[in-house]
Amino acid sequence: MVPVPARTEAWSEASTMCNDMSSNTLVPCPDCGHLLATQAETCPRCARPLRTPSPREGLLLRTMNHAVSAVFWIPVFLLLVLLGTGAIAYLLGYFSPPP
Ligand SMILES: [Zn+2]
Repeated sequence: MVPVPARTEAWSEASTMCNDMSSNTLVPCPDCGHLLATQAETCPRCARPLRTPSPREGLLLRTMNHAVSAVFWIPVFLLLVLLGTGAIAYLLGYFSPPP
């Protein structure tokens, strides 16, 4: 088998295929080794959460990202509105020198 270079189209295709194939297989629990379906959310033996629900930190970070982007984009937006208004006013002749 030819090794597929990482992060290429073929690589992502191959990994997608692997994911599809492994979706119905059993995986050992990382803690106790009990075989679990990959869809299982917790291990029935040791109750280890397998698919961690979206963590609070992630939500907080995403909210912060939104806040940061808002703080960044609002002045940009206002500046663009000002520039646009100025440009429109200029085009309409408000700034034309008096005759
Ligand atoms: Zn387990």
